[in-house]
Amino acid sequence: MTSDRTSRPRILTGDTPTGKLHLGHWVGSVRRRVELQDSHDCYFILANMHAFTTRVDQPGEIRSDTLEIVRDLLCMGIDPERASIFLQSEVPAIAELTFLFSMLLPFNRVMRNPTLKDEIKVKGLGENYPFGFPLYAVGQTADILAFRPVAVPVGEDQVPHLELTREVARRFNQKYCGVGDKVEDADHVEEGGVFPVPVADVGKVGRLVGIDGANKMSKSLNNAIFISDSAKQVQKKINKIFTGRQSPTEPGDPDNVLMQYCEIFIPDEERVAELRRRYAAGDDIGDGHIKQELGAAVNELLEPMRERRARFENDSDVIDVLKRGTVEANRATEETLAMAKQAAGLGFFPRTLRLD
Ligand code: ATP
Ligand code: MG
Repeated sequence: MTSDRTSRPRILTGDTPTGKLHLGHWVGSVRRRVELQDSHDCYFILANMHAFTTRVDQPGEIRSDTLEIVRDLLCMGIDPERASIFLQSEVPAIAELTFLFSMLLPFNRVMRNPTLKDEIKVKGLGENYPFGFPLYAVGQTADILAFRPVAVPVGEDQVPHLELTREVARRFNQKYCGVGDKVEDADHVEEGGVFPVPVADVGKVGRLVGIDGANKMSKSLNNAIFISDSAKQVQKKINKIFTGRQSPTEPGDPDNVLMQYCEIFIPDEERVAELRRRYAAGDDIGDGHIKQELGAAVNELLEPMRERRARFENDSDVIDVLKRGTVEANRATEETLAMAKQAAGLGFFPRTLRLD
């Protein structure tokens, strides 16, 4: 680890191993993470305990997806020498803070979280979700605050979770650190609070729609183009996008999913503007042609990632990255936990966690 890393502002974000990473992750969060590696002290969580909320019968899949996501991150450009990728299940301070934070949130407040409601609906959970499902929203506040980060790079859907996190930080600081209720969010630490009130750092594309054209591209909804898809699979998925348009001379909706993807993934802005204009006018440009051009652009983005991926084939190399990151994560979070315990009257004697 470079010695100046810890003096930089800290960020925390991450992924739940409910599948592999896709283009939505790239544009919504990972592209930003790659940028921040040089200027920030970065921690990226693999929320493997939270994956049990919807996959309690699939521990093997959770494990293999955990390793696949680490591969995805490495091949997208996260550098384990500069950033820590770590396992939630091996950072006990997170679980301990979850318990403490759950006392700061009214039950109804947790259930009012629109992202939680949406997930219950979209994933068809009905009434059949475990107690751990709403608890994961509280757990996420601990995932974040355990690192006392200034910002969290996330997609739009995560903003309500972050709002909950900001509430927890304020309440904790007000209840246990003597921070007044009129103090501005940005001043909480200066006024003695343990936790900064972190801001959401939403990527340029906060919500990439899936190839179904309806829902958010999501690893659990079967509407995703995965980072690990082959060039052929990518083209095949793009070809399946339904626009309802019948012929190259029929005016098309320049904001439909196909054109949104062109806007996001074709780097030549002039070409995109021309495609949009001709598409809207029905100026002899077919969906098939556009899909080929789009497929080529997406594959150009993914090709260097495919090449890098080949370097991380061995599970043991990936586990080694996770272990190194987890050591760093424990160092950071044990410090936070000790501060929080001290503030909440739980600081009886210090403890040392054996890290490796
Ligand atoms: P799940 O369906 O299991 O919730 P997911 O695809 O939503 O999976 P998460 O692990 O929940 O993935 O999200 C990881 C990060 O990626 C979050 O910051 C989330 O906001 C962002 N993200 C996920 N999907 C998209 C998307 N389609 N567009 C933009 N950002 C996204
Ligand atoms: Mg999600």
